[in-house]
Order: sequence, then structure tokens, then C-alpha cells
Amino acid sequence: MTVMTHPGIKAPGDYLDQVMISVKAKNPAEPEFHQAVQEVFDSLRLVLAKHPEFQSARLLERIVEPERVLMFRVPWFDDLGNIQVNRGFRIEMNSAIGPYKGGLRFHPSVNLGILKFLAFEQVFKNSLTTLPMGGGKGGSDFDPKGKSDNEVMRFCQSFMTELQRHIGPDTDVPAGDIGVGGREIGFLFGQYKRLRNEFTGVLTGKGLGWGGSLIRPEATGYGCVYFASEMLKSKKDSLEGKLCLVSGSGNVSQYTIEKLLDLGAKPVTVSDSNGVIYDPDGINREKLAWIIELKNVKRGRIRDYADQFKKAIFMPTDIKLEHNPLWNIKADCAFPSATQNEITAKDAANLLKNGIKLVAEGANMPSTLEATKLFLDAKILYGPAKAANAGGVATSGLEMAQNSARLSWTREEVDDRLHKIMIAIHQNCYETAEKYGTPGNLVNGANIGGFLKVANAMLDQGLV
Ligand code: NAP
Repeated sequence: MTVMTHPGIKAPGDYLDQVMISVKAKNPAEPEFHQAVQEVFDSLRLVLAKHPEFQSARLLERIVEPERVLMFRVPWFDDLGNIQVNRGFRIEMNSAIGPYKGGLRFHPSVNLGILKFLAFEQVFKNSLTTLPMGGGKGGSDFDPKGKSDNEVMRFCQSFMTELQRHIGPDTDVPAGDIGVGGREIGFLFGQYKRLRNEFTGVLTGKGLGWGGSLIRPEATGYGCVYFASEMLKSKKDSLEGKLCLVSGSGNVSQYTIEKLLDLGAKPVTVSDSNGVIYDPDGINREKLAWIIELKNVKRGRIRDYADQFKKAIFMPTDIKLEHNPLWNIKADCAFPSATQNEITAKDAANLLKNGIKLVAEGANMPSTLEATKLFLDAKILYGPAKAANAGGVATSGLEMAQNSARLSWTREEVDDRLHKIMIAIHQNCYETAEKYGTPGNLVNGANIGGFLKVANAMLDQGLV
């Protein structure tokens, strides 16, 4: 492959540092993107020493550059007849191993840097699933909170009117993420079908009656708990009787709690952006059903839980506090399932001080780089997001397979496949960490395992 050799090859460490400097210079004001790249690069030091071919092919410069970035205007009418304008995005990051795949996020905090970090993470996560999916991510700074169903529909229709030009079942297959659940996927799918006059598997997370897969809503939470179970198994332990902290109260949190209950654990917290609920009696199935109704149907706030279940305590969000009280409750296991950087160094220190044994990340990049380092140094069981929450996209891949075959598998069949995929991801991360000389470090295992498949595919496909 002489065509890809460039002169002046440097030592792997210098090469990584040099590419990192250029990532920061070329993508200013995108701290989350820098963070996601830095975390992967820290692991890749171990790989580049063994694989000089990646450096000579300038693989890192190529893998940090999205294949395509789409940014577009989304105008829509609110219920009062006023014109509203939001910004829409789709980052098509890497298609070396399959069509772009990754969720859409509707949240006021959405910007280019956040979506690039998510798309970058997605590339490695999708590779780990063992399924043929490239990486992408998209969304808008639109806030569905407080909007009527009609407003959400008009927004989704306007968003899809542009996005439909760029996606397709063999090109780019979006799914849900924060603020995008079954309702939004329905409106988006309806508009795609209307404009393109085709009924295809262009989105995942669809309704069960029109191409959706059983277990897709449950998959990220269930998968994260399966992964945690595998981590504990490696220490001859289990989730039975474990006290668990869960943050968030959306899709991932709800099904994390359900699977924790299935496996005999005791979840004691939930949260939303307004505050934290601590229920010392534990969140049982009846309370979980109440949360699901509150969040998915009434679209209410989690503070109401403390009015409904009297022993529970509500702690409102206090921006002056430099830690989150949720991570300062004594427990065995933590399942961050809300958003990025929700565990700071101070939170990680609190968790460790209280004797946490395991952290499994349902949310994407919920721990800062400093918090991650503290977990790794303490040698607790630490399941990084791109491995632990890969069950969601894996089941999206299973939905795509069912759509292509015009078939629907049973609940048991999809759950069994999801479970086996999570076992395989854990095994891959565990063995890769060992092979590269850092046993037990699943961050290295996930980053290297995810990277190698994509990097080798990129080498095979030439300079594109
Ligand atoms: P969701 O259903 O919209 O729920 C998000 C939850 O997190 C809500 O309780 C929300 O509270 C809370 N939250 C969001 N932003 C917050 C912020 N800035 N501060 C405090 N709380 C915040 O979304 P989801 O699908 O469960 O996603 C949660 C996390 O999992 C995200 O990091 C997402 O990228 C990741 N993830 C999701 C999937 C999936 O299949 N859905 C797959 C892999 C990873 P409010 O209601 O107050 O905003």
C-alpha cells in the first residue's frame, strides 16, 4: 500500500499528540468532541506501537473527520401561528463497515460539537455490536418539553422535509435519542414515506404495527444491565441484592430499572433536569409503572414522585452545588442514564468514597475524563458507554434485519439475540484489554476493539 505512505513517520505518542492538536485547532469550541477523541486516542497509544500501518495511512486524521456534515434550517408554525426556527443536523461520520446509523437528539443543548462527539462514539460502538453499521448522529436544538403533539408533529415534518434527501435504508438509518421516542419517530417516518413514496426501514424505533421490533424500546437499558451482569460474573458476583443508583427517568433509565428488578437488584434513585428522587424503600414494579406513565404519557416532572410515594425524598437541582447528590448516596452499583458529563471528578470521588463496586454507563459519555481516570485507577468494574449501552443500536440493527427480511421475530428471540450480543461485547472488551496489556481496563478494550475493525476496513477500501 505504498500509495498511502507519507514521509516522516513519527513515534506513536508524537503522532497522537500532533493529531489531537489539529483536532482542537480545526474544531474550536467543541469541548465534548475533543473529550471523546482524547479518550479514544489515549487507548490507541497501545495499538499504534503494534500497527505502524495505521499511522502511515494517516488513519487518525481520517477517522476524526466526518465523511459529511449536514446543517439545515427547520422552520415551523407553533400553535399560536407564530413562526419558529430551529437548526437541524446530521453528522455522517463513518461508513467503512455499513450504512450510517445513530440516533436523533432533540434538546436545547444540541450543537455541532455535541453531535460530533456522539457520532464519533457511535462509530466504535456500532463496530463493537458485531453488526454491519457505520456511525452517525443528528438532531436539533428543538425542545419538545412543553410543546403540544401538533407542534411536535409540525416540527418533525419540517425536519424530515430536508433530512429525507440524505437518508435511506442502505445509506443512513437514524433512530431515537434524548427527546426522540416513539411519538417523534412516528411523525418522522410518516413524512419520509409521504415525500419519498416508499415504505422502507429508514428509521428504527418504529411502532410495532408498522415495522418496529419487539424489545427495541427496552434494549439500551436491558443491554446495559446484561453488560453489568457480565462484568460482575468476571468477579464471580451477581446483581442479586445490589443497591443501585440510576440517573435520568427517560427511556434508558426506565428499562435499566426494569431489568435490575428482574435480576434481583434494588434501584433506589431516578432524576430529571429539575432534581433527584431517592426512594430508600426501592423502586418496585408498581412505582416503575407510575414513572413510565408520568414520563411517557403525562410528560410530567419527576418531583411528583415524592408526592405520590411518601417515603421518597426529592432533592431539587442546585446549580451552585459542585456535585450531584444522586452520586453521593451509598450503593453498590451506578447506572448513569441521563446525559454527557453528569459524573464529574467530585461525583466519582463521592461514589468511590461510598464503596461503589461497579459503574455501567447507559448514557453516552456520562463521566468526564477525570472521573473516568478515578474509576480506572480505583480498579472498580467500569463499563464505558460505547460498550455498555450498545444494546440499543444493536437492537436497531436487528430491526433493520427484520425489515429487510419482511419478518418479525418474537420478544424472546430478540431478547436472546440482544443478550448474546452484550455477552460478546463484554468478552471482546475483556479479552482485548488483556491482549494489549491492561487487564480489566474495559475502556481500552472497547476503544481498541471498536477501532480495529473500522480501521482495517478503511485500509481495505483505499483512500476514500
Ligand atoms: P430520554 O428518554 O429523553 O431521557 C433523558 C433523561 O435524561 C430525562 O430524564 C432527562 O430529564 C434527563 N436529562 C437529559 N438531559 C439532561 C441534562 N442536561 N441534565 C439533567 N438531566 C438531563 O433519553 P434517553 O433515550 O433515555 O437517553 C439518555 C441517555 O442515553 C443519553 O445520553 C443518550 O444519548 C443515551 N443513549 C440512549 C439510547 C437509546 O436507545 N435511547 C441508546 C444509547 C445511548 P429532562 O426530562 O428533565 O430533560
